[in-house]
Amino acid sequence: MTKYVYDFSEGNKDMKALLGGKGANLAEMTNMGLPVPHGFTITTEACLAYLDKGTFPEGQTDEVEEHLVRLEAAMGKRLGDPSDPLLVSVRSGAKFSMPGMMDTVLNLGLNEESLKGLAQQSGDDMRFARDAYRRFIQMFGKIVMDVPGDAFEHALDQAKARRGPSTQDTDLDEEDLNALIREFLATYRQHTGSEFPTDPREQLSLAIEAVFESWNGKRARDYRRQNKISDDLGTGVNVVAMVFGNRGEDSGTGVGFTRDPSNGGKRPYGDYLQNAQGEDVVAGIRNTLPLAKLEELDPRSYRQLLEVMSTLEGHYSDMCDIEFTIEKAKLWILQTRVGKRTAFAEWVMAFDMLGEGLIDEDAALLRVDPNRLEELFKRRVKADGAQPVARGLNASPGAAVGRVVFTADDAEARAKGGDKVVLIRRETTPDDYHGMIASQGILTSAGGTNSHAAVVARGEGIPAVCGADAVRIDAAGHAFTANGTTVKEGDVITIDGFTGNVFVGELPLEDSLLEKARAGDEAARGERIWQAFERLMAVADARRRLRVRANADTPDQSANARARGAEGIGLCRTEHMFLGEERVGAVRQMIFADDEAEEHKAYDALLPLQREDFVGIFRAMDGLPVTVRLLDPPLHEFLPDLTTLSVEVALAKERGEDATEQEQVLRKVRELHEANPMLGLRGVRLGIVKPGLYAMQVRAICEAAARVKNEGGDPKVEIMIPLVATKPELEQMRAELEPVAVEVLAREGVELEHLDWGTMIELPRAAVTAAEIAEAAEFFSFGTNDLTQTAFGFSRDDIGKFVGMYEERKLVPANPFVTVDRPGVGRLMRIAVEEGKASNPALHLGICGEHGGDPASVTFCHEIGLDYVSCSPFRVETARLAAGQAAVGSAESAST
Ligand code: PEP
Ligand code: MG
Repeated sequence: MTKYVYDFSEGNKDMKALLGGKGANLAEMTNMGLPVPHGFTITTEACLAYLDKGTFPEGQTDEVEEHLVRLEAAMGKRLGDPSDPLLVSVRSGAKFSMPGMMDTVLNLGLNEESLKGLAQQSGDDMRFARDAYRRFIQMFGKIVMDVPGDAFEHALDQAKARRGPSTQDTDLDEEDLNALIREFLATYRQHTGSEFPTDPREQLSLAIEAVFESWNGKRARDYRRQNKISDDLGTGVNVVAMVFGNRGEDSGTGVGFTRDPSNGGKRPYGDYLQNAQGEDVVAGIRNTLPLAKLEELDPRSYRQLLEVMSTLEGHYSDMCDIEFTIEKAKLWILQTRVGKRTAFAEWVMAFDMLGEGLIDEDAALLRVDPNRLEELFKRRVKADGAQPVARGLNASPGAAVGRVVFTADDAEARAKGGDKVVLIRRETTPDDYHGMIASQGILTSAGGTNSHAAVVARGEGIPAVCGADAVRIDAAGHAFTANGTTVKEGDVITIDGFTGNVFVGELPLEDSLLEKARAGDEAARGERIWQAFERLMAVADARRRLRVRANADTPDQSANARARGAEGIGLCRTEHMFLGEERVGAVRQMIFADDEAEEHKAYDALLPLQREDFVGIFRAMDGLPVTVRLLDPPLHEFLPDLTTLSVEVALAKERGEDATEQEQVLRKVRELHEANPMLGLRGVRLGIVKPGLYAMQVRAICEAAARVKNEGGDPKVEIMIPLVATKPELEQMRAELEPVAVEVLAREGVELEHLDWGTMIELPRAAVTAAEIAEAAEFFSFGTNDLTQTAFGFSRDDIGKFVGMYEERKLVPANPFVTVDRPGVGRLMRIAVEEGKASNPALHLGICGEHGGDPASVTFCHEIGLDYVSCSPFRVETARLAAGQAAVGSAESAST
């Protein structure tokens, strides 16, 4: 038969799934010989069985009775004994810590009779006994029987008020408490329609049921959703002999961490509250003392506590937090677990513990969370309780303060004038780029984490909040409103790219130590956090198999990426090379050309400009591979917006002005207009329809490479064709473009050792026909932004509107534009890798969608055998770290 109850002596720390974290760790500490009160745990399996059937599973009640009898024997007391009662606490504890989310009942076993025994056994302290009883009725009533907590709180407040102003709980005397008990019992009767149960076994059974039920309480469910904890785990129930911290000044209760959880410092840290019970410390009822003060109050218990802390840290090889109680100068440990810590403390602790020999290099590497690494580099908002006016997606980390502007041109103009600005748009397009990079931060009211605004912002390291749909832009009024507040152009706002919060006014910001250290600041370089960073990153680099490249479009971005450890460029998007004042004329000429000669004139104008761009990038990436993607976006993106232009033309005509030129542009814009531009004339289709375009780009690339080579450099060139769906598309492009490269290189008298041709895999058809396409490609790079868009049929620019709700309702496991959707998009990738490699074993494989910088996706890329990931420059370190962890993690799983 299933065993549902375990004595603390029967469990261990590895049984968290069955006993819950609290139960497993209490068992571990019991077996380590630490001063833990006796007790037992009812398993999570029993909880799940109860929740399934609505009754305790068969055998549980008998097992509880058996363990209770043993507990009574161990304590030399019996539950409900009128002369010397055993009291117990009934505490929840799930596999993952859910602080304060589920229920606990203390002092169980009290009734009118045992109350007297408790008083007698505590030196005739009737006040203490009554206080314990009133707490029990209150907790039991509220938690087990759903009596509104306010009813008890109100009675307590009145009792205090009767004694006079500023009366504390501890000022109530025996008689006050007796009156309060009567009131509490009456309240209980009134709300439940029954008498307060006097039989301790009945009390226990009801309390166990209530803790089981609390797994499905609203608070617990919300917490699990927020923290991505499964609903299927259930909670354990711990029944523990009570010890009392409220038995006078030589008693108390506290919480402690073996190291400082905020900065990682190697010193115990915590709070202590004298003469207090249970949750008083965390509840903030009275002011707590710093743990170090306990040394003065009770040096013996303090020393013992430090010993326990050091034993626990050695045993768990990690920072632990503990709850303890001192009863009449005797120390009891009530709980421990590996403690939560800040991103900063995580690095310092892992580094220190490695230095101390507590953990090895692999363990130290796995201790730090790549998802939080970026946090360490960014400036932060010090919100100090300030209320946001709107909230959006935390699209690009960091904090920004600036004056509100609504157009890219205004952003650029104001920034040139020395203003710091935040650009606010409904959504951005490549046309806004100049204004975006002139801004401190970017805020959009639509768009998701992979929208243009988000991708560019992350690429540039500009903080951004996207999809803040409470923000209503009033373009004509040069203002936006959000939740009733109106903010005008020129007003200052603060955006927090870590949280997605938007604040009105200027909030203070702080700089990161790591960024200072990287910039060469000697003092910052002397800090532990920097030393920790350098040491653990070296371990990650030594372990990882995946190479890490960056998505970078300019020489500056390339240099930045290289400084962060990028081993090449995995995606150089060339669309920005078609923007800017001096280029727009030529681009328009190309789009408007009526014949080939016209078109070629435009290419001739663009070619030298693009060549210079490539020269800069090849120089910055000397000796490392650079994957250049030929033009991808639809051409209308280089023309004015249809609606705006229509209005302008209409107005000009109304004013009787000559609008011929504008009308001509409007005609072309209409002609190029597509219902679904993302599925339209873009990518390789553009290359096919406008043959001279890609040829010009290839010429510029090869001439630039030849120049750099002739300078003594070592350019490694990879030319990538986007949005390919069929092998013939790629074959046709290569047939047209390779001769161009051959011709240029022959003319320049240069040979390139590294000139590869490949394609992006960003359409489902390409993925499932990868075997064919691989015959025409030297490399594949997964464009998981478009692949996700096309696999789900979700628009990457609009998903921000509902993806949050989708995640909340578990319709998707996570935002698929952030983390590769393994069963769908991931499966397509796996097929493409396996079948592509089978037909072309030399095929080189990478990823350049935004997922390339997402730790969970990097792990996936490691697993399916990609050669590299490519991500925005600011995520290069994150990817290096995640790749190191993936290698260590998979080695571990392989060896177990
Ligand atoms: C992609 O689709 O994943 C990709 C990298 O290309 P882009 O984001 O430029 O469409
Ligand atoms: Mg794409």
